[in-house]
Amino acid sequence: MSSTPRIGILALQGAFIEHQQILKRLNVSSFEIRQLSDLDQPFDGLILPGGESTTQGKLLKDLGLFYPLQQKIRAGLPTLATCAGLILLAEHLVDDPTVHLGTMPVSVKRNAYGRQLGSFFTEETFGTLGKIPMTFIRAPYIEEADANVEILSKVNNHIVAARYQNQLGLSFHPELNESTQIHEYFLNMI
Ligand code: GLN
Repeated sequence: MSSTPRIGILALQGAFIEHQQILKRLNVSSFEIRQLSDLDQPFDGLILPGGESTTQGKLLKDLGLFYPLQQKIRAGLPTLATCAGLILLAEHLVDDPTVHLGTMPVSVKRNAYGRQLGSFFTEETFGTLGKIPMTFIRAPYIEEADANVEILSKVNNHIVAARYQNQLGLSFHPELNESTQIHEYFLNMI
């Protein structure tokens, strides 16, 4: 993509403002997706923020955004999904029959770190980027991934970042740290 991209950020619930702020720092324009008419404008990438996946999944359906967004992701729209967003993308959830968008062939365990260790910070290697800061908040992890999913990062032997074609799924919240590296990685997918 030669001109600067424009990113739609799902803004129904959760940590969407922090993504806007990071994109602003990178001089990338974004807009909030709150209702169906927001999808009338062209955009080059989608961010599904962290928050509460059950609430987000319900709101997506109630607002009529579910199928249009699912179709766009399936058609190749570059998508960055953090935490609850990763849960929305997962084709399977561990011990849970719920499937939301189901566009990423991974099996995701919700609240995988239990209540005791609900939130924590660490630094770990991400793809070829070296170590990056990672903030986990009642985070899921990827328990299993299809062979065609690229594993980008593991923490304590659990997959916390993976890419499948146009979809980048993260257990952690890159928007809550100073580093803009993950967003830059995502923008390079466009
Ligand atoms: N635990 C949340 C869920 O299951 C995800 C947490 C987050 O997005 N920080 O939806």
